[in-house]
Amino acid sequence: MSKPVVAIVGRPNVGKSTLFNRLAGRRKAIVEDMPGITRDRLYESAEWLGREFMIIDTGGIRFDDGELFAREVKWQAQLAIDEADVIVFVVDTKDGVTHEDEQVASILRKSQKPVVLAANKVENFDKQLEFYEFYNLGLGEPIPVSAMHGRNTNDLLDAIIAHFAPQSAYQEDEDAIKIAIVGRPNVGKSSLVNSLLGEERVIVSDVPGTTRDAIDTPFKFDGNQYILIDTAGIRKKSRIKEPAERYSVVRSLKSVERADVVIIMLDATAGVNEQDQRIAGYVHEQGKANIIVVNKWDLVEKDEYTMNKFDKEIREDLKFISYSPILYVSALTKKRIYKILELADFVAEQHHRRISTSELNKVISEAMLLNPLPGGGGRRLKIYYCTQVRTAPPTFVLFANNPEQIHFSYLRYLENTLRSNFGFEGTPISLILRKRE
Ligand code: GDP
Ligand code: GDP
Repeated sequence: MSKPVVAIVGRPNVGKSTLFNRLAGRRKAIVEDMPGITRDRLYESAEWLGREFMIIDTGGIRFDDGELFAREVKWQAQLAIDEADVIVFVVDTKDGVTHEDEQVASILRKSQKPVVLAANKVENFDKQLEFYEFYNLGLGEPIPVSAMHGRNTNDLLDAIIAHFAPQSAYQEDEDAIKIAIVGRPNVGKSSLVNSLLGEERVIVSDVPGTTRDAIDTPFKFDGNQYILIDTAGIRKKSRIKEPAERYSVVRSLKSVERADVVIIMLDATAGVNEQDQRIAGYVHEQGKANIIVVNKWDLVEKDEYTMNKFDKEIREDLKFISYSPILYVSALTKKRIYKILELADFVAEQHHRRISTSELNKVISEAMLLNPLPGGGGRRLKIYYCTQVRTAPPTFVLFANNPEQIHFSYLRYLENTLRSNFGFEGTPISLILRKRE
């Protein structure tokens, strides 16, 4: 389960960034040399009473070109509604309720997202009057705070985490990498499961109840924890030979949803067929980190060119996952099967990678200089800036004046640029265009 996301919204100068720094528990220097963006601390991780979460300072995104307030705030609120689990709406008790506050409140009220109302800049906590009028915003009880002096922020944090989904009972598995093995029948999935779990260096946990289901198998290797998803299903299947084809695919797909890393298994003796493509396509669309594992390598007659030849064919047939590492193994002889776990660690890390907004914009603006956006119907197409809004898979929002006119191939170009600069091996990445005047 990913960490809950908390977004801070509110009009300029109410104290959002002060509060952000306070909640994030550290102060960061404001270093930003990208024109157009005045701050660069969109995300920080924070923790309260053992609950970890991410906070976004939506006010951290500001444009120098004199954005109209109403539009900016609407956009900010929308970002928060789209991305956050809990929204902290900051108002300024020195100013009282303003028209802009009412505008934001009305957007937030319609969103159905939990909102915590922070009445900031309270100097005297005995005088309730200072923040009383904020009840009128219809967002529940205002919590008086002083972001600057750090007063009462504990109450605010309590209110925030009260809205988080209850922590799952499987908390202990949080660090474990959940691995699903998919592939058409007979590629060797159950053989791989047996080989892996039968290995000396693999320590299978015999404590029941550590996983969501008895069908999963938790184990340790080299001090790291893993969970093999639907182990029971994979093993059982090989005995039901007949309608297995369809059935096993459906089950495979279900296990993908629960996985962090998916092993897409191919049979070296059989080549890639349409069913392999469908399965791999599904994994990609689900945004899962993945590895292409070519099994039965022991059966292949090899010379020094064989691997390259296989690589080429697989890349051709599975173009859409050209980012995935390919590994040649034998479940039978156990050759390189440990390597699968090492790669799983690696791609899981890539899947959770976060790139700072300043680094991103540097790379994107260089890419746009190198290969400028074509003009669109008389009006110049512009991408103003880019920010990573999510991990697993890494997801980037590009703000552009006319997103609908930006060609798919240009996005592909930007994706390739991101990959060549940052890696992201084994993980899909997603680029989203948003309109901004
Ligand atoms: P933002 O634009 O909403 O991010 O607001 P900032 O965090 O930049 O704060 C705007 C101004 O309000 C700054 O001068 C802060 O020092 C000040 N400020 C923030 N929190 C408090 C507070 O709790 N009390 C008082 N008196 N001033 C505050
Ligand atoms: P599943 O249907 O994907 O679970 O495939 P199985 O694990 O049941 O394997 C199908 C057949 O391939 C069985 O006869 C296995 O013994 C054989 N097999 C699996 N892995 C290998 C391998 O690495 N090398 C060889 N030679 N045979 C394998």
